[in-house]
Amino acid sequence: STVLPEDEAASQVFDEFMLANTFQGIMSSFQQICDLLHMHPQPHQVFYQQLKTRLTSWKAQSLWTKLDKRAFSKEYQKGKACSNTRVLIIGGGPCGLRAGIEVALLGGQVVVVEKRDRFSRNNVLHLWPYLIHDLKTLGAKKLFGKFCAGSIDHISIRTMQCIMLKVALLVGVEVHPGVAFEDLVDPSPEGAEHSWIGWRAKVSPADHPVSLFEFDVLIGADGKRNTLAGFTRKEFRGKLAIAITANFINRNTQMEASVEEISGVACIFNQRFFKELNEKTGIDLENIVYYKDETHYFVMTAKKHSLLNKGVMLQDHEDPERLLSRENVNQEALMSYACEAADVSTNHQLPKLDFAHNHYGQPDVAMFDFTSMFAAEHSSRVMERNGHRLLIALAGDSLLEPFWPTGSGCARGFFGAMDAAWMIRSWASGTLTPLEVLAERESIYQLLSQTTPESVNKKFTMYTIDPNTRYKNLDSNFFKPHQMKRYYEGGTPESLAQMRTMVLIVLQLHTECYRDSHNLLRWLQKELECYRSQVQILDLTLSWRSGIALAGLIHKYRPELINFFQMDASKIAENNEMIFELAQREFGIKPLVTVADMENPDGPDKTLMASYLTSFYEYFRKESI
Ligand code: FAD
Repeated sequence: STVLPEDEAASQVFDEFMLANTFQGIMSSFQQICDLLHMHPQPHQVFYQQLKTRLTSWKAQSLWTKLDKRAFSKEYQKGKACSNTRVLIIGGGPCGLRAGIEVALLGGQVVVVEKRDRFSRNNVLHLWPYLIHDLKTLGAKKLFGKFCAGSIDHISIRTMQCIMLKVALLVGVEVHPGVAFEDLVDPSPEGAEHSWIGWRAKVSPADHPVSLFEFDVLIGADGKRNTLAGFTRKEFRGKLAIAITANFINRNTQMEASVEEISGVACIFNQRFFKELNEKTGIDLENIVYYKDETHYFVMTAKKHSLLNKGVMLQDHEDPERLLSRENVNQEALMSYACEAADVSTNHQLPKLDFAHNHYGQPDVAMFDFTSMFAAEHSSRVMERNGHRLLIALAGDSLLEPFWPTGSGCARGFFGAMDAAWMIRSWASGTLTPLEVLAERESIYQLLSQTTPESVNKKFTMYTIDPNTRYKNLDSNFFKPHQMKRYYEGGTPESLAQMRTMVLIVLQLHTECYRDSHNLLRWLQKELECYRSQVQILDLTLSWRSGIALAGLIHKYRPELINFFQMDASKIAENNEMIFELAQREFGIKPLVTVADMENPDGPDKTLMASYLTSFYEYFRKESI
């Protein structure tokens, strides 16, 4: 069969997508593929299948083979297990994205918001054997050729995020960089005009189309400083533990390649080394791990007295927060301390120890207090308001904070992500009552903190989201449904069956609505890219207030009609009056908003403005193709 030219072009961009190693690079090449193929991740149920039929290069096909094998696992019921479930995930860290992939494979509609727009963590994650297998079955090796080559069992957090992001996008997860979750927005009250509007999120920037997305499940995977209310946390306070991480530039020379790594296990048995290190340098460590990855990465736990003696900490304080406060830490001394520890522990074999840069462009060295570690007391809850239920789950570091030197973060994090997906599956199946779903989830959560590479089921090839395939000695009935009542807030657990049916009926309608405004914004941004020094399009309201954006749109297609470059953004009334009149006269587009609406400091009403802008889209669309 002949390959369409746009499919051919998209296949070429797909190669770039496979190689891309930044958040932005991945997002923009993926967008280009969608644009070339005129595809959108919605409707999510068919996205991956359609993509597969359009992208048929051998590279693409070898990835599809991997993903297909995974997608046909019986738990997903061919993507029908959660086909009516809409999920918002807070956080595009490894665990948020991992959870997103599972829910998408179950057929759910998944939207991820990530407040950062760059993946910049050099630090390295230790991978348990199961995790290496898990990632390989998701095509990690195809997406990052060097993935766990030979005996390597670690990966930088940044690379892990890149791999997860690519898989997530391909299976139809929508990811929005630079969008922060702020709060939940209650559904509209019964009897109100839009009483069918369900749970939504307040996000920043406030007018991002994600704020229109309605969801039935919320997953908090926003890292250890979890933002979701309603989850109490247990504190594990141990003896003072201060960890230092440091990343040095890896120039990939032969000399660097020959330096031996120090694994977490090795360091425990080498007490003599720590004694000698202390005697020679005054650096007193409890452990040190060294991984050679994109950087030379070191993580160590240092004893307080040595940090004080070496001038890293200026004053001694009982309170770890004061002890590690910015004012009490000498950054230069910290850098020297980390450098010396790295140098001696690698037997002076690393030729140059120049710091790599962190997210802020500074030398990548940091000191953290692990004296107190937190774990959520429970992993899930349900809220019901105005006849709409919301299932809320935590995953990753939000659920269980890891101790970095032992590198358990992602290993337990992925287990938690899969457990959350399993719960969503049970929730969507309708065969269990909400309290039964919560009871099962909490029973599984009991085991998470006890998992170690040795204690989990060794048959990795059998792993699925079904917890029985992963945990040994699981008692899914450890908790009884009646014990879960405290995790059910508002309404009655028994009440909602009819309401759910109604929500499903309007679901289709709403998905369309959300999709449309999302597409509209994207189209407008693209159209006005050439005017970006005059106007920035961030939303469907405030960005349009001055009239300059609308003028730009008109100028692009009919430059003779408008004196665009002479316009003054501060003359809101004058600009809009002129544009409304011109658009009606020249294109027959009736103004749906008034000059007074535009003058409102909060900007015009979003729905009205979206409708007005849609008329421009309809009018200019043909010319823009
Ligand atoms: P994270 O990786 O922390 O991801 C959470 C994501 O949520 C982040 O990308 C964050 O930007 C985003 N987010 C937060 N709030 C919001 C919001 N309101 N709206 C939208 N997005 C939000 N582990 C190790 O084993 N070794 C290490 O050396 C190590 N170093 C680390 C260094 C740092 C700075 C951090 C934060 C974590 C480190 N970890 C380390 C932990 C490890 O990264 C995690 O265990 C692992 O990434 C899995 O975490 P996660 O996906 O649950 O959370």
